[in-house]
Amino acid sequence: MKHLKLHWQIIICMVLGTLSGIIFNTIGYENNTIYTLILLLGDIFIRLLKMVIVPLIFTSIIVGVSSIKNQNKIGRLGLKTFLYYVSTSLFAILIGLTLANLIQPGIGAATIDQAGAFDTSKLTSGTSILDILKRMIPFNPISALASGDILGIIFFALFFGIVMNFTDSKYSSPIKGIIESIYHVIMKMTQIVIKCAPIGVFGLMTKTVSNTGLSIFKELGLYALAIGLGLSIHLFIILPLILIIFVKINPMQHFRAIASAMVTAFSTSSSSATLPVTMKCVKDNVKASNEVTSFVLPMGATINMDGTALYECAGVLFIAQALGIPLDASQQFIVVITALLASIGAAGIPSAGLVMLFIVTDAVGLQSDAVAIWVGSMLAIDRPLDMFRTMVNISSDSVGAAVIAKSEGENLY
Ligand code: ASP
Repeated sequence: MKHLKLHWQIIICMVLGTLSGIIFNTIGYENNTIYTLILLLGDIFIRLLKMVIVPLIFTSIIVGVSSIKNQNKIGRLGLKTFLYYVSTSLFAILIGLTLANLIQPGIGAATIDQAGAFDTSKLTSGTSILDILKRMIPFNPISALASGDILGIIFFALFFGIVMNFTDSKYSSPIKGIIESIYHVIMKMTQIVIKCAPIGVFGLMTKTVSNTGLSIFKELGLYALAIGLGLSIHLFIILPLILIIFVKINPMQHFRAIASAMVTAFSTSSSSATLPVTMKCVKDNVKASNEVTSFVLPMGATINMDGTALYECAGVLFIAQALGIPLDASQQFIVVITALLASIGAAGIPSAGLVMLFIVTDAVGLQSDAVAIWVGSMLAIDRPLDMFRTMVNISSDSVGAAVIAKSEGENLY
């Protein structure tokens, strides 16, 4: 197993988990010690993932935001970059929202008998937008960190990162160095946690299949199709349109220029790991200046994740549909906003987007084991979706660099 690529290991464990799930579904799993131990593997994996969320978000946002330096041009670049990041991510989210509402991939899943797997009475779905906006500002950042109040952490980290740029470097440099160090260590920890994914997937698949039977694949098939379709629309229609309108070139020329970055993103599922390749492609082939490239891309790898944003939105609507809790317009608005924040907060590493789903589900009040079970099911087929959304993420970063370089009067390609 050790010599196999991670995604193959995950696929193999997914199949094994499915088989063991079918076996336990057939023979029954009440009071079965082996079954309990297998489930423990999945639970431990989910706990490990949740464990790294807070430090990861806190440090990655500060590291990303504080790379905006404090000068006139930087201010202008900052505004353009921000506008590009937010508008393309929102576009992607709206595609996800539309498709999830049209295709309704989770509706059939609600009929799957998951009785006994969790207590659905614990689910609530009501919370107001004003509440969410108010809750974004933490009373106390330390307690926000301690209690895992993700929205509060994101708000504080953004504010902190921005203000750090306006603070005398005598004071900001030491803390910046420390936060960067923590960020890199946490990234490493997360990578190690992701390495446990095959074992975790085995436990999670066993749990899902033993509880629900094989119908899960049908429902998740539709879910994967909805996400895949959304990502394709964004990559093959929206981004090319942006290139035609704002950069005035044939989109094929751009995709050829960044092809090696796209392939790297696809095979690593990590925007951060792909960053050096993306920067090289944008500098050497798109011929954007050093200034624009080093400003737009590193931050983009952490903050601008169109594919992830689309996935957060569609994924949460899927879970809500599967749980039989339809989200009304105001709740869907909350999903849009938190999906944007979650995509900003997601680190550029494999499956980070999946972990961030919990933020969006929490924001609309979907908090129970049931959510974790569905996220577990989604994890089983996350790898191919992650490969695709990472490719969309870095493609959007590179298009952003081209748009901003062009707007600064640079000669490209
Ligand atoms: N793997 C993605 C990236 O690195 C993040 C995600 O999981 O959506 O861009």
